[in-house]
Amino acid sequence: VSGDRAALSRAITLVESQKSEHRKQANTIVQHCLKYSGKSIRIGITGVPGVGKSTFIESLGSHIIQQGNRLAVLAVDPSSTLTKGSILGDKTRMETLVGKSDAFIRPTASGVALGGVAQHTRETTILCEAAGYNVILIETVGVGQNETTVHSMVDFFLLLKLAGAGDELQGIKRGIIEMADAIVINKSDGDNIERSNLARIEFDRALHLYPPKPSKWTPIVKQCSALEHRGITELWELISTYAELTTTNGFFRDNRQKQNQHWMLQTIETSLKNNFFSQPEVQKAMKEQLEQIYSNTISPFSAAQNVLNIIKSSG
Ligand code: GDP
Repeated sequence: VSGDRAALSRAITLVESQKSEHRKQANTIVQHCLKYSGKSIRIGITGVPGVGKSTFIESLGSHIIQQGNRLAVLAVDPSSTLTKGSILGDKTRMETLVGKSDAFIRPTASGVALGGVAQHTRETTILCEAAGYNVILIETVGVGQNETTVHSMVDFFLLLKLAGAGDELQGIKRGIIEMADAIVINKSDGDNIERSNLARIEFDRALHLYPPKPSKWTPIVKQCSALEHRGITELWELISTYAELTTTNGFFRDNRQKQNQHWMLQTIETSLKNNFFSQPEVQKAMKEQLEQIYSNTISPFSAAQNVLNIIKSSG
């Protein structure tokens, strides 16, 4: 709470640890930090590898700090072990920010199970907020499930795009566009400007197809050059406008409460599932029922019921 970076790093390491005695300590720390947390804006940034996420975060992050804020950069990358993609939040990729006393950069923990990453990032957010960081950037690679996970832990969701990277809209899943509060076309510089202008028109058109958001915010399409630091100031102003609007109309708070509810339910579900499937009787029954399914003597639904009945009979 006094802003000791080494203490913060150690607390995060505890949160990321798989050991049960660490888990207990982590729970206690997170619990105590809760009352100091929450006073921040949490921003999710997603985009395919190479779109310019780290360059963008360096540029936006430097501006954010210049405005007198304290910035934490976290990363969610459950897929990196599968795709061997870039390591998000890698310190060497954000050289400018790393040197700043008002910036805290935490690379993705490696070797954490897929389901664990989200919990760690949410707890790390709480710790960073308690340590006085009032802007939290959460970076993720735009593949598969990651965006949805990050969307459910941030206040503002920003989609970083490239112009002229082939079939513009077909490339992105409908659901992702729907989640975006801002679509930012990066690398709008040099001989890319014309393509970027076209992309902007296309995305603007696409966004109009969606119904108004519960936040009452109209998603925006912006062009920027992270490399040349252009469009960054305006973007930060827009994010600030978003924060003002949604704080005034109550969405900001409601959304966070919904997210907390979601995470509680999600955690219960995961835990129930794990407990259930790890029981030897369940594993044995599953095997038996599967054999019957294969030999076509039972329907999958009755088989499921038979397995589920084990909890009823045992408990
Ligand atoms: P990430 O994989 O999404 O984090 O992308 P990087 O930030 O590592 O950027 C990938 C490449 O694009 C690097 O060579 C950057 O220098 C370059 N790049 C990033 N932003 C811009 C930009 O605004 N304009 C141009 N021309 N190049 C950029």
